[in-house]
Formats: sequence, structure tokens, C-alpha cells
Amino acid sequence: MTGRCGFVAIVGAPNAGKSTLMNRMTGAKLSIVSPKAQTTRFRVLGILMRGESQVLLVDTPGIFQPKRRLDRAMVAAAWTGAADADLVLLLVDARSGATDKVREIAARLGESGRRCWLALNKVDLVAPPSLLPLTETLSKLAAFERTFMVSATTGDGVEALIDALAAAMPEGPHLYPDDDLTDLPDRLLAAEIVREQIFLQTHEEVPYAATAETESFKERKDGSVRIDVTIYVSRPGHKAILIGDKGARIKSIGARSRHELSGLLDRPVHLFLNVKQRAGWDEERARLRAIGLDDPG
Ligand code: GDP
Ligand code: MG
Repeated sequence: MTGRCGFVAIVGAPNAGKSTLMNRMTGAKLSIVSPKAQTTRFRVLGILMRGESQVLLVDTPGIFQPKRRLDRAMVAAAWTGAADADLVLLLVDARSGATDKVREIAARLGESGRRCWLALNKVDLVAPPSLLPLTETLSKLAAFERTFMVSATTGDGVEALIDALAAAMPEGPHLYPDDDLTDLPDRLLAAEIVREQIFLQTHEEVPYAATAETESFKERKDGSVRIDVTIYVSRPGHKAILIGDKGARIKSIGARSRHELSGLLDRPVHLFLNVKQRAGWDEERARLRAIGLDDPG
């Protein structure tokens, strides 16, 4: 059988909906989503099967102006994702439109000469007449082969995008087992789910100053799994916020994460969270490697 297989990097500004689209396309929750920018910190691979095609979707962290070492590593991961791909899909929040950030990314894609497509997302939030001018503006910056209008939330237009991507993949053998959904290891997935709850349940700078690492992941004889996750925060005040009054916040983060993980891993989960303060973790190489980012130097 002659198959098709290729990598598609989904790039764009923070909050464009890249992770939501990735999850919608694969029908699984692979990448964590929150209303806050910069939730995704490293590349996540989603394996999408359509007919004889295997489409390897790469969700990338948003591209933004990096300050901390963590931020530099995230942006580097995004551009690496784009450089390794057969096709780059620029996802744009149609409501925010052609912001400076979006123009900059489009221009850089244009200069790279890479094969790129444009997808305007969140069409459920905008009036259709605004889409054409937005497409025209962005098309001046890069030679998009094709343009799609989608809503990652409602699923509008997503099937058409999947079909087009599947047909556009180069011929070749499938690189992953067809029934796999991701190459994300369970340990990393566990830490990501905890981090997602931190993003959903805490505010302001707290989620950005926190990271989660799986310390141990042990299968038990009864079919359940015990997972120990350490949450690192950079300031004592953040630790207090994460723990909450009488431990209420951390209990709630643990309870939601455990529920999510039991579903994703399809078995009972015993989750133990431990909050540690560690000033400057976001500048530490070991911490960055532990969450799957290459050190940008
Ligand atoms: P990312 O930073 O590009 O990965 O963006 P996320 O996938 O984390 O989404 C950012 C926010 O936009 C979340 O609150 C999503 O629920 C929301 N969002 C994503 N796609 C859509 C869409 O098509 N319509 C609407 N209304 N909201 C969306
Ligand atoms: Mg994301």
C-alpha cells in the first residue's frame, strides 16, 4: 500500500487556538489549553489518521518576545517545530486579526520560503466579511498555498482542513503506529495535566512562575498507577497561593488532575502533589530539560 506521511507544524501567536485545534483534529486531549497565553511550553505531537495518510501534527508554543531562559527555550521550540515540518500551518485568531505579532510571524514564514498554509481560527466570534481583508493582508507577507476558515471550538471547517492536509502529505511510509495518538510519554502528560490545572485555578503571574515535574510513575499490580508530581514555584508567596487556605487549592488541583488523568490513561490514578519553592527554576537548565525543552543557551 502506498501511504502518505508528513509533519505539519501549527504555529502562531499565543492564544491563537493552536492547542485547541490540535486536540479537535486528533479528537483527543493531547495539548493543554487555557485562556491564558503561553500555556504550551514544548512541542506536542498529535498523530492523525485520515485514509492512507498519517498526518503528524506538531503543536508549538506561541511565538513571542522571549525574556527568561524558559521563554527563549519555548520560542526556539516553536521555530524548530516549523523548520522540521513538511508544511507549516499559520493559525491566526480572526478576532484579534493582523496584530504586529502575527505580521512578524507571517513575514518570517514568508522569508523562510517554507511551504505554508493559512488558517483563520475562531470564526465563530467574527462577522464573515472581516475574513477576506484579513486574508489579503496576511497574503502580502507570505505565499500561502491555501487558506482555511475554522473554529477549533465548534469544529467548523476542521474536517475540510484535515482532508486537505491528508492529501497534501508526501508519499512515504507511516512513521508511527497508526493507532498511537501521540509520542508524549505518560510521565510528561501527567505533569502537563497538573500544570493545566495550575493555569486554570491560579492567576496573574503564579501559573507562569510554576512548573510541574513527574518524580515517579509506578504501575501497581491492581492495574492502577501511582504518580508523584512536584510543582516548583519561584517565590514563597506563590507556594502559599498554590497550597491555599488549609490546603484547599492544592487539593482541588490534585482532584481535577487525578480525574483527568484517570480518563486519559484509562485506569485509576493515585496522584501525589508536592509543592517546592526553588528560586530561579526558570533559568535552570535541568528544569528546562525535565519539561522537554532544549536549552537555548
Ligand atoms: P494556543 O495558545 O494557540 O495554543 O491557544 P489555546 O488552544 O490554548 O486557546 C486559547 C484560547 O482560545 C482558549 O481559551 C480557547 O478555548 C480559545 N479558542 C481556541 N479556538 C477557539 C475558537 O475557534 N473559537 C473560540 N471562541 N475560542 C477558541
Ligand atoms: Mg497552546
